[in-house]
Amino acid sequence: MSDTSVNVQIAKLVELQKIDYEVYDLNGQLEEKPAMLEEIKELFEGKKANLHVLEEKLKTIQLSRKEQELELKVKEEGVSKANAQLSAIKTNKEYTAKISEIESIKADMSVIEDKILISYEEFDKVNAEVAKEKANVAEEEKKYLLQKSKIDDEINIIKDRIKVLKSQKSKVGSEVDPACLDMYEKILVRKNGLAIVPLNGNICGGCNLNVLPQEINNLKKKHELVFCEKCNRILYLEEYL
Ligand SMILES: [Zn+2]
Repeated sequence: MSDTSVNVQIAKLVELQKIDYEVYDLNGQLEEKPAMLEEIKELFEGKKANLHVLEEKLKTIQLSRKEQELELKVKEEGVSKANAQLSAIKTNKEYTAKISEIESIKADMSVIEDKILISYEEFDKVNAEVAKEKANVAEEEKKYLLQKSKIDDEINIIKDRIKVLKSQKSKVGSEVDPACLDMYEKILVRKNGLAIVPLNGNICGGCNLNVLPQEINNLKKKHELVFCEKCNRILYLEEYL
């Protein structure tokens, strides 16, 4: 490789690195999005929990009222049956006993009727709470859907940008020597999207460790690609670009 050639290759790699670093950053942002979507979804589901509890309560009230109404019906039939038996009774003693039985059933019925009345009041109260909570949840759903669509938009913007960058990359990449490009790509994958770094004074711009004087000399000769001995990234001198 001639002097100019190394410099040209490095300049192209630096250009490539700018593109790749942005791609790397964007991919990182993209990876976080599903967890963000999951988090806001869970938060919204949690806000629906109270409504669910109230709706279950409402169902329980209705169910237990139906049972009480059924029980009342059985008692009513009991009273009718006892009343019908009255005419067939011969003795005063039996008559008094039957009347007392009827009174007792009626007393039970009165208790059940009170319970049914209370159950209606309770139902109205909980029903009002359900309506209020439904309005709350509807409001929360609006917020959730808005947040979700914002994140979905961000995902699409990132994906579009990555497409643009990839097409830029393939253009610049085609101008780089294949062997150089292959080496660069391998370092890129291993080194978190940072393959070529500037030498700052005598410090490597990738690992921030000192670069050996011998390597700095090699870099200044511009004869070959020079690597940081510590992090194995390609080094370059900004003033030579
Ligand atoms: Zn280094």
